[in-house]
Amino acid sequence: MANSNALCPCGSTIPYAKCCAPLHEGVTHAASAEQLMRSRYSSAAMKNAGYMRDTLWPREQKSLNFAELQTWLEETLWTGLEVLDASPCPPEATKATVEFKAKYLSSGKLGVHHELSLFRKKQARWFYVKPLPL
Ligand SMILES: [Zn+2]
Repeated sequence: MANSNALCPCGSTIPYAKCCAPLHEGVTHAASAEQLMRSRYSSAAMKNAGYMRDTLWPREQKSLNFAELQTWLEETLWTGLEVLDASPCPPEATKATVEFKAKYLSSGKLGVHHELSLFRKKQARWFYVKPLPL
C-alpha cells in the first residue's frame, strides 16, 4: 500500500488517503462521474482490478474477463491522467460523460489512451458503462 502522504495517482495533487482511498475502501462513493473516473484511473495505477470491476455498470460486469483485466493492469504502468472534459453532475443526473487522456507505459512503449466515457447512476452510485465514439 502506498505511503498515506503520497499524492494520489489520479492527479488531484492531494494525498491519496484524502482523495481516492475512501472510494477504493468503500467508505464513500463517488459524488460525480468525474470523481469516479479519477478513482478508476488511480485504481488502475495501483493495480486494483476489484475496484474497476465493482464500479463497472452491473450488466457489463457479466462480460468482463477479470483475469485478463488483472494481467493488463500488471503489465501496464499508468503515468498520468488528464481530464479534458466532464459533463456537470447535478444531484438529479443519471448519465454523464467524461473525456480523458491517460498516459501509460506498456512493453517498453509509451502510449496515450484517449477516451470519452459514458457513466450512469443507479441507487445513488455512479458506474462506468462504456467508451463512446470520440
Ligand atoms: Zn485521487
